[in-house]
Amino acid sequence: MMRVHFLPLLVTLILLPAWCIALPMEHAPVPGGIVVIPLPGDADPASIRFGGKRVMTTQTDTSQYAVVGLALGVKPGTHYLEARTVTDKPLRLSFQVTDKQYETQHITIKDKRKVTPEKRDMERINRESKTIRAALRHWSDNEAVPLRFIKPVDGPYSSPFGLRRFFNEQPRKPHSGLDIAAPEGTPIRAPAAGTVIDTGDYFFNGNTVFIDHGQGLVTMYCHLSRIDVKPGQAITSGEPIGLVGMTGRVTGPHLHWGVSLNDARVDPMLFLPAEKTAKQ
Ligand SMILES: [Zn+2]
Repeated sequence: MMRVHFLPLLVTLILLPAWCIALPMEHAPVPGGIVVIPLPGDADPASIRFGGKRVMTTQTDTSQYAVVGLALGVKPGTHYLEARTVTDKPLRLSFQVTDKQYETQHITIKDKRKVTPEKRDMERINRESKTIRAALRHWSDNEAVPLRFIKPVDGPYSSPFGLRRFFNEQPRKPHSGLDIAAPEGTPIRAPAAGTVIDTGDYFFNGNTVFIDHGQGLVTMYCHLSRIDVKPGQAITSGEPIGLVGMTGRVTGPHLHWGVSLNDARVDPMLFLPAEKTAKQ
């Protein structure tokens, strides 16, 4: 019985590029995507940086790879990793980023203070943005970083990653996460194992949970009605972390799910298995 299935699998493995075997995630060398770069055998994994930020590496039986998150602001063209060999010689590793046009979205927010915050809000926003950035660039060593996620909430994708946004006709930062619509109170489950780094209640993001999965891979859950985890808590894949809500800047109840890799916000969809229908 096993042999019947084994041969087609073997053929598939031989035909696939190497990174497919090592990394069950989508290779997307675009702004907001993830690029997987084979490393020479003598590369020192701890030395690899992109834009000064340490980069995830993974090892198969035969090869090692850098797994690099590309921020939405990365320009198309040739980019370089900073790297050194185990004997401390410089390595020059280049890769190409291709362009991707994200759609534009216009949103009307009734609470004008959430679009053009008042002076007294700015101090809070600036303070919170430091906390949020610190959580998203968190690094912890982990040999077995989960690169395949389960969908954290059942529901339709209401707003994709990367949308160029206008709030009340004013341009704002592009959408750095993926929105899943669900009724208030719907449980949110951790998409993979990790450790809660921080939780908080923020001006724009509302009640928020950050989970560290290791090697610069951090996920963020926003607008929760209730947080059910504490900083430092270890989380298994599928474990409930809180409930969907509409705290912060929202037009309705949904989960805003962010994924950060080497401090670059990347498309969470790249970590999910392909679904049967294109959008939902
Ligand atoms: Zn969102």
